[in-house]
Amino acid sequence: MFERRLFQSEHEMFRTSVRKFIEKEIAPHHAQWERDGIVPRELWLKAGEAGLLCCTIPEAYGGLGLDYLFDVIVFEEMARSGFTGPGFLIHCDLVATYVKTFGTEQQKQRWLPKMVTGEAIGSLGMTEPHAGSDLRSIRTRAVRDGDDYVINGQKVFISNGQLCDVVVLATKTDTLPGGTLMMTKLAQERLAQAIRSATVAEHLIDITVEYTSQRKAFGQTIGDFQNTQFKLAEMKTDAVVGRIFTDHCITQFMNNQLDEVDAAMAKMWLSNLHCRVADECLQLFGGWGYMWEYPIARAFADARIVKIAGGSIEIMKHIIGRSLFSQSAGDVKRRSRAKNTDTDSAVTDTDRAIA
Ligand SMILES: Cc1cc2nc3c(=O)[nH]c(=O)nc-3n(C[C@H](O)[C@H](O)[C@H](O)COP(=O)(O)OP(=O)(O)OC[C@H]3O[C@@H](n4cnc5c(N)ncnc54)[C@H](O)[C@@H]3O)c2cc1C
Repeated sequence: MFERRLFQSEHEMFRTSVRKFIEKEIAPHHAQWERDGIVPRELWLKAGEAGLLCCTIPEAYGGLGLDYLFDVIVFEEMARSGFTGPGFLIHCDLVATYVKTFGTEQQKQRWLPKMVTGEAIGSLGMTEPHAGSDLRSIRTRAVRDGDDYVINGQKVFISNGQLCDVVVLATKTDTLPGGTLMMTKLAQERLAQAIRSATVAEHLIDITVEYTSQRKAFGQTIGDFQNTQFKLAEMKTDAVVGRIFTDHCITQFMNNQLDEVDAAMAKMWLSNLHCRVADECLQLFGGWGYMWEYPIARAFADARIVKIAGGSIEIMKHIIGRSLFSQSAGDVKRRSRAKNTDTDSAVTDTDRAIA
């Protein structure tokens, strides 16, 4: 059987502590937070204290300067738990990364230490009521007023929006030429989503094997039916294939070699797998799988967004497709690698940049 080779013992120790944190600090309260419609700030402070936030932020900015795999572990364990309230992924992977990469020294000193402790919560504001996939159509404007910018516009669907202290905001300005110039880390964002989907798919297969091993019909377990085993065999195989590709992309990313096409393929393929596994596993739970009390029902509902947010499946196909039809696939790869280094890059109309 396939075994992941990415992690060392220190990573696995960290994984254990993240799981314990989720069991102790999130699991008992998540249902109440859902009723409240908000995750309390105390949770963020506790997560900061436990070292779960922004693991890669350098010591100079209050972080531990750990490798990316520590962040990956937080994303994976949150995904496995099924608790979607706390928006750690956006805070750590997107907002902190943008601030670290593109912020001024003053902005980094001001925000990053607080993002590590959970005192400041980050969100990424791109989508507007009339513009989601087509980022070039955003209307929010930032107009120079002395040393400040005055911002006018509307944003919707902003994860962590109710709580946030720091927002990486997409606007048009009167000072930048050529419309909206966005600073993006597209490949990294899509990789994080692929990681989440790979983990959820694996977890749903595991809980379905467990359930169908117990549940009986016609004098045998549901797992004894050949159809159940065939379905799960197909899903497991696809999950392993997806995991191998995702881990490959993690390694590429850590070597500064992940290009936007591979990241788009990972995001697209794993999102599709995530939704299919949620659907087929729910089928094997029967009517109980439709009941909200069963995690598979929740996972099914939560799955649907992954094909839309963070760049829809269709946008991923655009990215992959246009790389096939450009003059030379090699040139595209070289260009996109250059793009995904720590430099600004323009967002094209098909480069949706957010979760
Ligand atoms: C739970 C949730 C959390 C979110 N979090 C955030 C956040 O934190 N920050 C943020 O900025 N946004 C966030 N979003 C918004 C999300 O990124 C957008 O919903 C997404 O980018 C799609 O934009 P849209 O909804 O305007 O759909 P539209 O752009 O109107 O697209 C609708 C559909 O049309 C199709 N389509 C669009 N363009 C093309 C094309 N070029 N070719 C073919 N088909 C196409 C696709 O199927 C697409 O799904 C979130 C959304 C949700 C639901």
